[in-house]
Amino acid sequence: MPKIAGGCLCGKVRYSTDAEPALSAVCHCKHCQKQTGTSYSTLVAVPKGSLIIEGESLATFNDVGESGLPVLRHFCKNCGSPISTDVKAMPDLDFIKAGTLDDSSWFEPQIQIWCDHTQPGVKIEGDGPKFEKNPPAG
Ligand SMILES: [Zn+2]
Ligand SMILES: [Zn+2]
Repeated sequence: MPKIAGGCLCGKVRYSTDAEPALSAVCHCKHCQKQTGTSYSTLVAVPKGSLIIEGESLATFNDVGESGLPVLRHFCKNCGSPISTDVKAMPDLDFIKAGTLDDSSWFEPQIQIWCDHTQPGVKIEGDGPKFEKNPPAG
């Protein structure tokens, strides 16, 4: 598994972790569509606390998830690239937007979530589970 490292579009924010990815996912939810301005988020989850942010500090949009718990969406305050998300309903993980990886060639989603919001015409290959909303807890 390649080392996870990446950064924002302008380069002021850099991140890295030595951790192995815990999960890779595509999220089709409307909030991810709005935040990314495209069709879905590609996400790599790493153990909470393993992500090292360098350079410019991140700005945060305080979103709320379906759980009613906060979803902290971190982005570069200079160029606006979404970098990572802190989902309080999943306290053991940090989610990296896979498009910001320096090398995303290995990224393949294991699961797809919020598939009932998938935009028409979006088809993502892969045999992994697809969930209408969030995956069932546990
Ligand atoms: Zn930037
Ligand atoms: Zn989402």
